[in-house]
Amino acid sequence: MGGFRGADLHCHSLFSDGVERPADLVKRALDAGLSALALSDHDAVHGLPELEAAAKGTGLVTVAGAELSARCDGDDVHVLGLFIDPGEPELVAKLAAMREARDHRAEAMVVKLAAIGLPLDLSKIREVVGDGAFGRPHVARAMVAAGYAKDFGDAFDRFLTRGKPGYVPKPKWTLPEAISAVRRAGGLAVVAHPVWYTDPEKVVAQGCEAGLDGLETLHVDHNSAKEGEFTRLAARFRLLVSAGSDFHAPGEGRPGVGARRLPEEPWNLLVAAAAKRREEAGRPPLGLSPA
Ligand code: AMP
Ligand code: ZN
Ligand code: FE
Ligand code: FE
Repeated sequence: MGGFRGADLHCHSLFSDGVERPADLVKRALDAGLSALALSDHDAVHGLPELEAAAKGTGLVTVAGAELSARCDGDDVHVLGLFIDPGEPELVAKLAAMREARDHRAEAMVVKLAAIGLPLDLSKIREVVGDGAFGRPHVARAMVAAGYAKDFGDAFDRFLTRGKPGYVPKPKWTLPEAISAVRRAGGLAVVAHPVWYTDPEKVVAQGCEAGLDGLETLHVDHNSAKEGEFTRLAARFRLLVSAGSDFHAPGEGRPGVGARRLPEEPWNLLVAAAAKRREEAGRPPLGLSPA
């Protein structure tokens, strides 16, 4: 059996803006020696059955997740739903509507880029996206392939971040709506990568008023000083802590699956809280396979 070797509770597959199948992510997690892996696609839960099937019999514990985008004052705050019941009907319906809205937004982005002399073939990008959630990374990759940007980061920096000519905001939940949707689905609501926000403490404070459960203190975009800062912030607000690699694709400037891992003690706290939430929300029990 061996001891607990860490949980990576944040990564993306081609069901949103990652490039690999859930089964490939399971292989990466096993290669990295992880004990647990969450798939947290943006606005999508339909990759989760493949994740679970691929992990069966390997000893890897899988966690059902999704990443929701919420507005909080001027910021786009990402809320991870972890240990959710992916069959909860309200969540499933709302995520489908969000994916539909993401497709419209992508169309608007392509129109804006064409207007500055950078035409893209939307139908070809839609083929890549399939029934997944259309995101800016899909547009960034198409721009690199067309020779409009020198790499993925360059496409974002010059065209796709807020204030740049290809940017179109996407439809978002409010922060309380996102947190409530996760809780209703029997999951834990965790604010992702707090380093991204103008005022992380304000986000956490507003989140806590709406029932926030945790903070992703360990994330690939946090240096050790930020890790310390956010660990103290979580403690002050009595939040659970989480960890994630936010893996999307190899070669896009971030390390791989398992680059951040949650130790056993905070993992056990998450599992206990999630088991309780399932019961409160009237969703099926967790049924995690033993590590
Ligand atoms: P979207 O949900 O379509 O707005 O896309 C957001 C995703 O794009 C994030 O989850 C990141 O994976 C990626 N992203 C956002 N900003 C950047 C950036 N400056 N450089 C690289 N990737 C980014
Ligand atoms: Zn993403
Ligand atoms: Fe995110
Ligand atoms: Fe993410």
